[in-house]
Amino acid sequence: MSAKSLPRIDLRRLILLFTLLTALITLASSLYVVYQAQRQTLIDSALQSNRAYATKVASSIGDLLRNGQENLAYSADLLAGQLHNAPLLKSEAARLQRQDSSFNVVGIFDATGKVLEASPESLQIKGRTFRTEGVIQALHGRQPMISSAFVSEIGNLVIFVSHPILDSNGQYLGAVGGTVYLLKQSVLHTLISSHFNNVDVQVYVVDNRRRLLYHADPDRIGQMLGPDTAVDAVLGAGAGAMESVDDKGIAMLSGYAWVPDSRWGVICAQSRETALAPLNALIGRTVLVVLPVCLIGFAIIGWVATLITRPLHQLASVASHMDAADSPVQIKSVRAWYIEAARIRRGLSKGVVLMQEKLGHLNRQAQSDPLTGLANRRAMDEALLELEQSSTPFSVMAMDIDHFKTVNDTYGHDAGDVALQALADVVRQSSRDGDLACRTGGEEFTVLLPNTPIANAIDVAERLRARVESIRIDRIGCVTISIGVGSWLPEGPPVSAVLKQADEHLYKAKKNGRNRVEA
Ligand code: GH3
Ligand code: MG
Ligand code: MG
Repeated sequence: MSAKSLPRIDLRRLILLFTLLTALITLASSLYVVYQAQRQTLIDSALQSNRAYATKVASSIGDLLRNGQENLAYSADLLAGQLHNAPLLKSEAARLQRQDSSFNVVGIFDATGKVLEASPESLQIKGRTFRTEGVIQALHGRQPMISSAFVSEIGNLVIFVSHPILDSNGQYLGAVGGTVYLLKQSVLHTLISSHFNNVDVQVYVVDNRRRLLYHADPDRIGQMLGPDTAVDAVLGAGAGAMESVDDKGIAMLSGYAWVPDSRWGVICAQSRETALAPLNALIGRTVLVVLPVCLIGFAIIGWVATLITRPLHQLASVASHMDAADSPVQIKSVRAWYIEAARIRRGLSKGVVLMQEKLGHLNRQAQSDPLTGLANRRAMDEALLELEQSSTPFSVMAMDIDHFKTVNDTYGHDAGDVALQALADVVRQSSRDGDLACRTGGEEFTVLLPNTPIANAIDVAERLRARVESIRIDRIGCVTISIGVGSWLPEGPPVSAVLKQADEHLYKAKKNGRNRVEA
Protein backbone atom coordinates (compact mmCIF):
# COMPACT_ATOMS: atom_id res chain seq x y z
CA MET A 1 0.00 0.00 0.00
CA SER A 2 1.44 3.38 -0.88
CA ALA A 3 1.70 6.14 1.71
CA LYS A 4 -0.83 8.12 -0.27
CA SER A 5 -3.60 5.55 0.05
CA LEU A 6 -3.02 4.93 3.79
CA PRO A 7 -6.26 5.60 5.66
CA ARG A 8 -6.03 8.72 7.80
CA ILE A 9 -7.54 9.03 11.22
CA ASP A 10 -7.90 12.22 13.23
CA LEU A 11 -6.34 12.80 16.63
CA ARG A 12 -9.67 12.82 18.46
CA ARG A 13 -10.62 9.40 17.13
CA LEU A 14 -7.13 8.15 17.90
CA ILE A 15 -7.42 9.27 21.51
CA LEU A 16 -10.89 7.72 21.82
CA LEU A 17 -9.75 4.49 20.22
CA PHE A 18 -6.70 4.30 22.44
CA THR A 19 -8.75 5.06 25.56
CA LEU A 20 -11.40 2.51 24.64
CA LEU A 21 -8.74 -0.10 24.02
CA THR A 22 -7.01 0.66 27.32
CA ALA A 23 -10.30 0.56 29.23
CA LEU A 24 -11.31 -2.73 27.63
CA ILE A 25 -7.96 -4.35 28.30
CA THR A 26 -7.95 -3.13 31.90
CA LEU A 27 -11.52 -4.25 32.52
CA ALA A 28 -11.04 -7.62 30.88
CA SER A 29 -7.77 -8.34 32.64
CA SER A 30 -9.06 -7.32 36.08
CA LEU A 31 -12.23 -9.37 35.59
CA TYR A 32 -10.08 -12.27 34.48
CA VAL A 33 -7.82 -12.04 37.53
CA VAL A 34 -10.79 -11.77 39.91
CA TYR A 35 -12.53 -14.62 38.13
CA GLN A 36 -9.51 -16.90 38.31
CA ALA A 37 -8.87 -16.17 41.99
CA GLN A 38 -12.52 -16.62 42.96
CA ARG A 39 -12.83 -19.70 40.82
CA GLN A 40 -9.97 -21.40 42.59
CA THR A 41 -11.37 -20.39 45.97
CA LEU A 42 -14.79 -21.81 45.09
CA ILE A 43 -13.30 -25.02 43.75
CA ASP A 44 -11.06 -25.44 46.80
CA SER A 45 -13.89 -24.86 49.24
CA ALA A 46 -16.24 -27.23 47.36
CA LEU A 47 -13.55 -29.91 47.30
CA GLN A 48 -12.85 -29.42 50.99
CA SER A 49 -16.49 -29.61 52.05
CA ASN A 50 -17.16 -32.63 49.81
CA ARG A 51 -14.18 -34.40 51.24
CA ALA A 52 -15.30 -33.61 54.79
CA TYR A 53 -18.76 -34.87 54.03
CA ALA A 54 -17.55 -38.08 52.35
CA THR A 55 -15.34 -38.77 55.36
CA LYS A 56 -18.26 -38.22 57.71
CA VAL A 57 -20.59 -40.49 55.74
CA ALA A 58 -17.89 -43.17 55.49
CA SER A 59 -17.25 -43.07 59.20
CA SER A 60 -20.99 -43.27 59.95
CA ILE A 61 -21.36 -46.29 57.66
CA GLY A 62 -18.33 -47.84 59.36
CA ASP A 63 -19.90 -47.22 62.79
CA LEU A 64 -23.19 -48.70 61.67
CA LEU A 65 -21.62 -51.87 60.31
CA ARG A 66 -19.32 -52.26 63.29
CA ASN A 67 -22.24 -51.86 65.64
CA GLY A 68 -24.15 -54.58 63.74
CA GLN A 69 -21.13 -56.86 63.86
CA GLU A 70 -20.72 -56.32 67.61
CA ASN A 71 -24.38 -57.24 68.15
CA LEU A 72 -23.91 -60.37 66.03
CA ALA A 73 -20.71 -61.24 67.93
CA TYR A 74 -22.58 -61.03 71.23
CA SER A 75 -25.29 -63.35 69.93
CA ALA A 76 -22.71 -65.77 68.44
CA ASP A 77 -21.11 -66.05 71.89
CA LEU A 78 -24.48 -66.63 73.50
CA LEU A 79 -25.46 -69.28 70.97
CA ALA A 80 -22.20 -71.28 71.07
CA GLY A 81 -23.20 -74.80 72.23
CA GLN A 82 -26.87 -73.78 72.35
CA LEU A 83 -27.86 -74.42 68.72
CA HIS A 84 -30.25 -77.17 69.84
CA ASN A 85 -32.00 -74.72 72.23
CA ALA A 86 -34.93 -73.75 69.97
CA PRO A 87 -36.55 -71.20 72.35
CA LEU A 88 -33.17 -69.45 72.79
CA LEU A 89 -32.60 -69.32 69.03
CA LYS A 90 -36.04 -67.87 68.52
CA SER A 91 -35.76 -65.22 71.20
CA GLU A 92 -32.21 -64.29 70.11
CA ALA A 93 -33.19 -63.91 66.42
CA ALA A 94 -36.17 -61.75 67.38
CA ARG A 95 -34.10 -59.67 69.82
CA LEU A 96 -31.34 -59.06 67.27
CA GLN A 97 -33.77 -57.91 64.62
CA ARG A 98 -35.53 -55.58 67.04
CA GLN A 99 -32.29 -54.24 68.49
CA ASP A 100 -30.58 -53.46 65.20
CA SER A 101 -32.88 -51.59 62.88
CA SER A 102 -30.42 -51.92 60.00
CA PHE A 103 -31.09 -55.68 59.77
CA ASN A 104 -34.20 -56.39 57.74
CA VAL A 105 -33.86 -60.14 58.28
CA VAL A 106 -31.85 -61.97 60.93
CA GLY A 107 -30.99 -65.67 60.48
CA ILE A 108 -29.16 -68.34 62.46
CA PHE A 109 -27.52 -70.99 60.21
CA ASP A 110 -25.84 -74.28 60.87
CA ALA A 111 -22.57 -75.15 59.13
CA THR A 112 -24.44 -76.42 56.06
CA GLY A 113 -26.38 -73.22 55.50
CA LYS A 114 -29.65 -74.51 56.87
CA VAL A 115 -31.74 -71.87 58.62
CA LEU A 116 -32.14 -72.89 62.25
CA GLU A 117 -34.11 -69.79 63.14
CA ALA A 118 -35.09 -66.55 61.35
CA SER A 119 -36.83 -63.30 62.17
CA PRO A 120 -39.29 -62.04 61.13
CA GLU A 121 -41.07 -65.38 61.26
CA SER A 122 -43.49 -64.26 58.59
CA LEU A 123 -40.84 -64.95 55.96
CA GLN A 124 -41.15 -68.70 56.71
CA ILE A 125 -37.59 -69.54 55.78
CA LYS A 126 -36.83 -71.64 58.88
CA GLY A 127 -35.59 -75.11 57.86
CA ARG A 128 -34.53 -74.05 54.35
CA THR A 129 -30.96 -74.29 53.23
CA PHE A 130 -29.64 -71.10 51.70
CA ARG A 131 -27.12 -71.00 48.89
CA THR A 132 -27.18 -67.25 48.34
CA GLU A 133 -23.90 -65.46 47.72
CA GLY A 134 -23.80 -63.82 51.15
CA VAL A 135 -24.45 -67.06 53.04
CA ILE A 136 -21.93 -69.00 50.98
CA GLN A 137 -19.30 -66.30 51.63
CA ALA A 138 -20.06 -66.44 55.38
CA LEU A 139 -19.90 -70.24 55.59
CA HIS A 140 -16.69 -70.37 53.58
CA GLY A 141 -15.04 -67.49 55.34
CA ARG A 142 -15.84 -68.71 58.85
CA GLN A 143 -15.02 -65.25 60.23
CA PRO A 144 -16.83 -61.98 60.84
CA MET A 145 -17.66 -60.59 57.46
CA ILE A 146 -19.65 -58.20 55.35
CA SER A 147 -20.59 -59.75 52.03
CA SER A 148 -20.59 -58.10 48.65
CA ALA A 149 -23.97 -56.83 47.51
CA PHE A 150 -26.13 -59.56 45.99
CA VAL A 151 -29.74 -60.24 45.09
CA SER A 152 -31.43 -62.21 47.84
CA GLU A 153 -33.75 -65.22 47.36
CA ILE A 154 -36.76 -62.94 47.58
CA GLY A 155 -35.34 -60.56 44.98
CA ASN A 156 -33.93 -57.77 47.16
CA LEU A 157 -30.51 -56.21 46.68
CA VAL A 158 -28.84 -56.82 50.03
CA ILE A 159 -25.59 -57.28 51.86
CA PHE A 160 -25.15 -59.95 54.46
CA VAL A 161 -23.37 -59.14 57.73
CA SER A 162 -22.42 -62.27 59.67
CA HIS A 163 -20.48 -63.65 62.59
CA PRO A 164 -19.34 -67.29 62.98
CA ILE A 165 -20.68 -69.43 65.86
CA LEU A 166 -17.88 -71.50 67.38
CA ASP A 167 -18.05 -73.97 70.28
CA SER A 168 -15.70 -73.81 73.25
CA ASN A 169 -13.12 -75.82 71.30
CA GLY A 170 -13.20 -73.41 68.41
CA GLN A 171 -15.22 -75.84 66.27
CA TYR A 172 -17.27 -74.09 63.58
CA LEU A 173 -20.98 -74.61 64.18
CA GLY A 174 -22.58 -72.12 61.85
CA ALA A 175 -23.22 -68.42 61.65
CA VAL A 176 -25.57 -65.71 62.81
CA GLY A 177 -26.20 -62.91 60.35
CA GLY A 178 -28.47 -60.12 59.14
CA THR A 179 -29.30 -58.81 55.73
CA VAL A 180 -29.33 -55.09 55.04
CA TYR A 181 -31.63 -53.85 52.27
CA LEU A 182 -30.01 -51.48 49.87
CA LEU A 183 -33.00 -50.50 47.76
CA LYS A 184 -35.80 -48.05 48.56
CA GLN A 185 -35.71 -46.54 52.04
CA SER A 186 -32.55 -48.39 53.01
CA VAL A 187 -30.53 -47.75 56.12
CA LEU A 188 -27.88 -46.06 53.91
CA HIS A 189 -30.55 -43.73 52.56
CA THR A 190 -31.66 -42.80 56.07
CA LEU A 191 -28.10 -42.31 57.21
CA ILE A 192 -27.00 -40.19 54.26
CA SER A 193 -30.11 -38.03 54.03
CA SER A 194 -30.00 -37.37 57.77
CA HIS A 195 -26.53 -35.94 57.39
CA PHE A 196 -26.96 -33.99 54.29
CA ASN A 197 -29.31 -31.78 52.42
CA ASN A 198 -27.29 -29.92 49.79
CA VAL A 199 -29.23 -30.59 46.59
CA ASP A 200 -26.24 -29.64 44.42
CA VAL A 201 -24.08 -32.40 45.90
CA GLN A 202 -24.78 -36.01 45.06
CA VAL A 203 -23.61 -38.79 47.29
CA TYR A 204 -23.05 -42.34 46.10
CA VAL A 205 -21.58 -45.44 47.65
CA VAL A 206 -19.85 -48.19 45.68
CA ASP A 207 -18.49 -51.53 46.75
CA ASN A 208 -15.07 -52.75 45.70
CA ARG A 209 -16.57 -54.23 42.52
CA ARG A 210 -17.91 -50.75 41.53
CA ARG A 211 -21.49 -51.76 42.23
CA LEU A 212 -23.62 -48.82 43.32
CA LEU A 213 -24.92 -49.53 46.84
CA TYR A 214 -26.42 -46.12 47.25
CA HIS A 215 -27.33 -43.39 44.80
CA ALA A 216 -29.79 -40.51 44.97
CA ASP A 217 -31.43 -42.03 41.90
CA PRO A 218 -32.92 -45.30 43.29
CA ASP A 219 -33.02 -46.84 39.80
CA ARG A 220 -29.24 -46.82 39.68
CA ILE A 221 -28.72 -48.73 42.93
CA GLY A 222 -27.30 -52.17 42.14
CA GLN A 223 -25.90 -51.11 38.78
CA MET A 224 -22.22 -51.44 37.99
CA LEU A 225 -20.69 -47.98 37.64
CA GLY A 226 -18.85 -46.99 34.46
CA PRO A 227 -15.52 -45.16 34.36
CA ASP A 228 -15.37 -42.54 37.09
CA THR A 229 -12.02 -41.10 38.17
CA ALA A 230 -13.25 -40.39 41.72
CA VAL A 231 -14.24 -44.07 42.11
CA ASP A 232 -10.82 -45.12 40.81
CA ALA A 233 -9.28 -42.95 43.52
CA VAL A 234 -11.49 -44.15 46.37
CA LEU A 235 -11.05 -47.82 45.47
CA GLY A 236 -7.35 -47.26 46.01
CA ALA A 237 -8.48 -47.20 49.68
CA GLY A 238 -7.89 -43.50 50.03
CA ALA A 239 -9.58 -40.37 51.23
CA GLY A 240 -9.24 -37.08 49.50
CA ALA A 241 -10.69 -34.65 46.99
CA MET A 242 -10.16 -34.11 43.31
CA GLU A 243 -11.51 -32.63 40.12
CA SER A 244 -12.92 -35.81 38.60
CA VAL A 245 -14.90 -36.92 35.59
CA ASP A 246 -17.97 -39.03 36.33
CA ASP A 247 -19.34 -41.92 34.29
CA LYS A 248 -21.32 -39.49 32.11
CA GLY A 249 -18.17 -37.53 31.26
CA ILE A 250 -19.18 -34.51 33.40
CA ALA A 251 -16.48 -32.57 35.23
CA MET A 252 -17.08 -32.93 38.95
CA LEU A 253 -15.59 -31.66 42.20
CA SER A 254 -15.45 -34.83 44.28
CA GLY A 255 -14.57 -35.68 47.85
CA TYR A 256 -14.16 -39.38 48.62
CA ALA A 257 -13.54 -41.66 51.56
CA TRP A 258 -12.98 -45.38 52.03
CA VAL A 259 -14.94 -47.59 54.46
CA PRO A 260 -12.26 -50.16 55.47
CA ASP A 261 -14.57 -52.74 57.17
CA SER A 262 -16.76 -53.21 54.13
CA ARG A 263 -14.27 -52.04 51.48
CA TRP A 264 -16.76 -49.51 50.14
CA GLY A 265 -16.14 -46.11 48.75
CA VAL A 266 -18.21 -43.02 49.51
CA ILE A 267 -18.15 -40.20 46.97
CA CYS A 268 -19.65 -36.74 47.38
CA ALA A 269 -19.60 -34.93 44.07
CA GLN A 270 -20.82 -31.62 42.77
CA SER A 271 -20.66 -30.67 39.12
CA ARG A 272 -18.02 -28.02 38.56
CA GLU A 273 -20.47 -25.99 36.54
CA THR A 274 -22.97 -25.81 39.42
CA ALA A 275 -20.21 -24.93 41.86
CA LEU A 276 -19.03 -22.07 39.65
CA ALA A 277 -22.52 -20.82 38.71
CA PRO A 278 -22.60 -18.16 41.48
CA LEU A 279 -19.26 -16.81 40.27
CA ASN A 280 -20.46 -16.58 36.68
CA ALA A 281 -23.56 -14.75 37.89
CA LEU A 282 -21.37 -12.41 39.96
CA ILE A 283 -19.13 -11.61 36.99
CA GLY A 284 -22.23 -10.98 34.87
CA ARG A 285 -23.63 -8.60 37.49
CA THR A 286 -20.24 -6.85 37.83
CA VAL A 287 -20.12 -6.25 34.08
CA LEU A 288 -23.66 -4.86 34.18
CA VAL A 289 -22.67 -2.44 36.95
CA VAL A 290 -19.33 -1.48 35.41
CA LEU A 291 -20.62 -1.01 31.86
CA PRO A 292 -22.73 2.14 32.48
CA VAL A 293 -19.85 3.61 34.52
CA CYS A 294 -17.55 2.86 31.57
CA LEU A 295 -19.97 4.53 29.18
CA ILE A 296 -20.11 7.66 31.33
CA GLY A 297 -16.31 7.63 31.59
CA PHE A 298 -16.05 7.23 27.86
CA ALA A 299 -18.37 10.17 27.26
CA ILE A 300 -16.25 12.32 29.60
CA ILE A 301 -13.06 11.21 27.84
CA GLY A 302 -14.70 11.98 24.50
CA TRP A 303 -15.50 15.49 25.72
CA VAL A 304 -11.96 16.01 27.03
CA ALA A 305 -10.53 14.63 23.77
CA THR A 306 -12.59 17.19 21.89
CA LEU A 307 -11.27 19.99 24.12
CA ILE A 308 -7.69 18.84 23.62
CA THR A 309 -7.88 18.31 19.91
CA ARG A 310 -10.00 21.31 18.98
CA PRO A 311 -7.14 23.90 18.97
CA LEU A 312 -4.90 21.47 17.04
CA HIS A 313 -7.70 20.74 14.61
CA GLN A 314 -8.34 24.44 14.04
CA LEU A 315 -4.62 25.22 13.70
CA ALA A 316 -4.23 22.31 11.27
CA SER A 317 -7.02 23.60 9.06
CA VAL A 318 -5.53 27.11 9.05
CA ALA A 319 -2.11 25.61 8.23
CA SER A 320 -3.59 23.81 5.25
CA HIS A 321 -4.38 27.17 3.56
CA MET A 322 -1.89 29.56 5.06
CA ASP A 323 -1.86 31.74 1.95
CA ALA A 324 -5.47 32.82 2.63
CA ALA A 325 -5.70 36.51 3.38
CA ASP A 326 -7.65 35.96 6.62
CA SER A 327 -5.37 33.28 8.06
CA PRO A 328 -3.74 35.61 10.67
CA VAL A 329 -7.23 36.42 11.99
CA GLN A 330 -8.19 32.78 11.99
CA ILE A 331 -5.02 31.81 13.86
CA LYS A 332 -5.73 34.51 16.42
CA SER A 333 -9.26 33.20 16.96
CA VAL A 334 -8.02 29.72 17.96
CA ARG A 335 -8.37 29.18 21.71
CA ALA A 336 -5.01 27.53 22.44
CA TRP A 337 -5.54 26.76 26.13
CA TYR A 338 -2.53 24.54 26.73
CA ILE A 339 1.18 25.14 26.26
CA GLU A 340 1.83 23.06 23.15
CA ALA A 341 -1.15 24.44 21.25
CA ALA A 342 -0.18 27.96 22.27
CA ARG A 343 3.35 27.38 20.97
CA ILE A 344 2.07 26.02 17.69
CA ARG A 345 -0.28 28.96 17.37
CA ARG A 346 2.55 31.42 18.05
CA GLY A 347 4.81 29.64 15.55
CA LEU A 348 2.10 29.47 12.95
CA SER A 349 1.24 33.10 13.47
CA LYS A 350 4.88 34.13 13.02
CA GLY A 351 5.16 31.89 9.99
CA VAL A 352 2.10 33.37 8.36
CA VAL A 353 3.28 36.94 8.96
CA LEU A 354 6.73 36.10 7.57
CA MET A 355 5.24 34.30 4.62
CA GLN A 356 2.84 37.07 3.82
CA GLU A 357 5.58 39.68 4.14
CA LYS A 358 7.73 37.61 1.82
CA LEU A 359 4.87 37.12 -0.59
CA GLY A 360 4.11 40.83 -0.48
CA HIS A 361 7.75 41.61 -1.09
CA LEU A 362 7.94 39.18 -4.00
CA ASN A 363 4.71 40.55 -5.33
CA ARG A 364 5.99 44.10 -5.15
CA GLN A 365 9.23 42.97 -6.77
CA ALA A 366 7.31 41.29 -9.53
CA GLN A 367 5.26 44.40 -10.07
CA SER A 368 7.89 47.09 -9.80
CA ASP A 369 10.77 48.32 -11.85
CA PRO A 370 14.11 47.80 -10.07
CA LEU A 371 15.81 50.98 -11.31
CA THR A 372 13.14 53.52 -10.43
CA GLY A 373 10.86 51.69 -8.01
CA LEU A 374 7.85 52.65 -10.11
CA ALA A 375 5.28 50.07 -11.15
CA ASN A 376 6.24 48.00 -14.21
CA ARG A 377 4.23 47.07 -17.27
CA ARG A 378 2.76 43.98 -15.63
CA ALA A 379 1.41 46.06 -12.74
CA MET A 380 0.04 48.55 -15.23
CA ASP A 381 -1.73 45.82 -17.21
CA GLU A 382 -3.35 44.51 -13.99
CA ALA A 383 -4.43 48.01 -13.00
CA LEU A 384 -5.92 48.61 -16.47
CA LEU A 385 -7.83 45.32 -16.24
CA GLU A 386 -9.20 46.30 -12.83
CA LEU A 387 -10.26 49.74 -14.09
CA GLU A 388 -11.92 48.19 -17.09
CA GLN A 389 -13.71 45.52 -15.05
CA SER A 390 -14.92 48.04 -12.48
CA SER A 391 -15.92 50.44 -15.30
CA THR A 392 -13.84 53.19 -13.77
CA PRO A 393 -13.17 56.02 -16.26
CA PHE A 394 -9.54 57.15 -16.36
CA SER A 395 -7.06 59.27 -18.26
CA VAL A 396 -3.60 58.18 -19.29
CA MET A 397 -0.35 60.11 -19.87
CA ALA A 398 2.32 58.49 -22.07
CA MET A 399 5.65 60.29 -21.76
CA ASP A 400 9.13 59.92 -23.23
CA ILE A 401 12.38 61.77 -22.47
CA ASP A 402 13.51 63.95 -25.31
CA HIS A 403 16.80 63.14 -26.98
CA PHE A 404 17.73 60.71 -24.27
CA LYS A 405 20.04 58.85 -26.60
CA THR A 406 22.16 62.01 -26.71
CA VAL A 407 22.17 62.19 -22.90
CA ASN A 408 23.49 58.65 -22.74
CA ASP A 409 25.97 59.28 -25.45
CA THR A 410 27.20 62.48 -23.84
CA TYR A 411 27.29 61.63 -20.12
CA GLY A 412 27.33 57.85 -20.15
CA HIS A 413 24.76 55.20 -19.39
CA ASP A 414 25.12 55.50 -15.59
CA ALA A 415 24.37 59.20 -15.73
CA GLY A 416 21.37 58.30 -17.93
CA ASP A 417 20.17 55.96 -15.17
CA VAL A 418 20.47 58.73 -12.61
CA ALA A 419 18.38 60.92 -14.87
CA LEU A 420 15.76 58.17 -15.13
CA GLN A 421 15.64 57.91 -11.32
CA ALA A 422 15.32 61.66 -10.94
CA LEU A 423 12.51 61.78 -13.46
CA ALA A 424 10.78 58.89 -11.69
CA ASP A 425 10.95 60.86 -8.42
CA VAL A 426 9.31 63.84 -10.04
CA VAL A 427 6.57 61.68 -11.56
CA ARG A 428 5.99 59.98 -8.21
CA GLN A 429 5.79 63.26 -6.32
CA SER A 430 3.36 64.68 -8.85
CA SER A 431 0.97 61.72 -8.56
CA ARG A 432 -2.06 61.79 -6.32
CA ASP A 433 -3.22 58.83 -4.21
CA GLY A 434 -4.93 56.45 -6.60
CA ASP A 435 -2.79 57.46 -9.58
CA LEU A 436 -0.43 54.78 -10.88
CA ALA A 437 2.94 55.82 -12.30
CA CYS A 438 4.71 53.14 -14.37
CA ARG A 439 8.00 52.80 -16.21
CA THR A 440 6.78 51.05 -19.34
CA GLY A 441 9.98 51.09 -21.39
CA GLY A 442 13.62 52.29 -21.31
CA GLU A 443 12.95 55.99 -20.88
CA GLU A 444 9.20 55.85 -21.36
CA PHE A 445 6.70 56.33 -18.54
CA THR A 446 2.93 55.99 -18.29
CA VAL A 447 0.69 57.43 -15.60
CA LEU A 448 -2.91 56.23 -15.06
CA LEU A 449 -5.25 58.79 -13.53
CA PRO A 450 -8.51 57.11 -12.46
CA ASN A 451 -11.67 59.23 -12.39
CA THR A 452 -9.84 62.12 -14.08
CA PRO A 453 -11.43 63.81 -17.09
CA ILE A 454 -9.20 64.54 -20.06
CA ALA A 455 -9.10 68.26 -19.35
CA ASN A 456 -7.74 67.76 -15.84
CA ALA A 457 -5.29 65.17 -17.18
CA ILE A 458 -3.96 67.71 -19.69
CA ASP A 459 -3.40 70.16 -16.82
CA VAL A 460 -1.57 67.53 -14.81
CA ALA A 461 0.57 66.64 -17.84
CA GLU A 462 1.41 70.25 -18.46
CA ARG A 463 2.42 70.81 -14.81
CA LEU A 464 4.56 67.69 -14.91
CA ARG A 465 6.27 68.72 -18.14
CA ALA A 466 7.00 72.14 -16.70
CA ARG A 467 8.33 70.68 -13.46
CA VAL A 468 10.69 68.28 -15.29
CA GLU A 469 11.93 71.12 -17.39
CA SER A 470 12.59 73.15 -14.27
CA ILE A 471 14.70 70.67 -12.31
CA ARG A 472 18.44 70.22 -12.61
CA ILE A 473 19.94 66.80 -12.65
CA ASP A 474 23.50 66.20 -11.40
CA ARG A 475 26.11 66.40 -14.17
CA ILE A 476 23.44 66.33 -16.88
CA GLY A 477 21.59 69.49 -16.07
CA CYS A 478 18.22 69.80 -17.67
CA VAL A 479 16.06 67.22 -19.52
CA THR A 480 12.66 67.65 -21.06
CA ILE A 481 9.80 65.27 -21.72
CA SER A 482 7.02 64.99 -24.27
CA ILE A 483 3.59 63.77 -23.17
CA GLY A 484 0.62 62.30 -25.04
CA VAL A 485 -2.71 62.23 -23.18
CA GLY A 486 -5.70 59.93 -23.77
CA SER A 487 -8.88 59.17 -21.89
CA TRP A 488 -11.06 56.09 -21.44
CA LEU A 489 -14.79 55.94 -20.69
CA PRO A 490 -16.58 52.65 -19.98
CA GLU A 491 -18.94 53.12 -22.88
CA GLY A 492 -16.13 54.18 -25.25
CA PRO A 493 -13.51 52.28 -27.29
CA PRO A 494 -11.41 49.57 -25.57
CA VAL A 495 -8.52 50.39 -23.21
CA SER A 496 -5.90 49.28 -25.76
CA ALA A 497 -7.21 51.81 -28.23
CA VAL A 498 -6.90 54.59 -25.65
CA LEU A 499 -3.28 53.60 -24.87
CA LYS A 500 -2.53 53.60 -28.54
CA GLN A 501 -4.14 57.00 -28.84
CA ALA A 502 -1.95 58.36 -26.01
CA ASP A 503 1.12 56.96 -27.81
CA GLU A 504 0.01 58.64 -31.03
CA HIS A 505 -0.34 61.94 -29.18
CA LEU A 506 3.12 61.42 -27.73
CA TYR A 507 4.50 60.82 -31.19
CA LYS A 508 2.71 63.97 -32.28
CA ALA A 509 4.30 65.95 -29.43
CA LYS A 510 7.72 64.71 -30.56
CA LYS A 511 6.94 65.67 -34.08
CA ASN A 512 5.69 69.10 -33.05
CA GLY A 513 9.03 69.96 -31.44
CA ARG A 514 9.19 67.96 -28.15
CA ASN A 515 8.91 69.29 -24.56
CA ARG A 516 5.14 69.62 -24.99
CA VAL A 517 1.81 67.97 -24.27
CA GLU A 518 -0.58 66.73 -26.94
CA ALA A 519 -4.09 65.42 -26.35
P1 GH3 B 1 13.45 61.10 -28.93
O1 GH3 B 1 13.45 62.48 -28.47
O2 GH3 B 1 12.92 60.93 -30.28
O3 GH3 B 1 12.78 60.22 -27.94
O4 GH3 B 1 14.92 60.72 -28.99
P2 GH3 B 1 15.65 59.65 -28.15
O5 GH3 B 1 17.08 59.76 -28.27
O6 GH3 B 1 15.17 59.66 -26.71
O7 GH3 B 1 15.20 58.40 -28.89
P3 GH3 B 1 14.62 57.09 -28.25
O8 GH3 B 1 13.46 57.48 -27.40
O9 GH3 B 1 14.33 56.15 -29.37
O10 GH3 B 1 15.84 56.61 -27.43
C1 GH3 B 1 15.83 55.65 -26.44
C2 GH3 B 1 17.14 55.67 -25.77
O11 GH3 B 1 16.98 55.53 -24.39
C3 GH3 B 1 17.98 54.54 -26.22
C4 GH3 B 1 18.77 54.14 -24.99
O12 GH3 B 1 20.13 54.57 -25.12
C5 GH3 B 1 18.13 54.89 -23.92
N1 GH3 B 1 17.77 54.02 -22.85
C6 GH3 B 1 16.79 53.14 -22.88
N2 GH3 B 1 16.74 52.43 -21.68
C7 GH3 B 1 17.72 52.97 -20.88
C8 GH3 B 1 18.14 52.71 -19.56
O13 GH3 B 1 17.66 51.89 -18.84
N3 GH3 B 1 19.19 53.47 -19.11
C9 GH3 B 1 19.78 54.39 -19.84
N4 GH3 B 1 20.79 55.11 -19.35
N5 GH3 B 1 19.40 54.67 -21.11
C10 GH3 B 1 18.38 53.96 -21.64
MG1 MG C 1 11.95 56.46 -26.33
MG1 MG D 1 13.28 59.62 -26.02
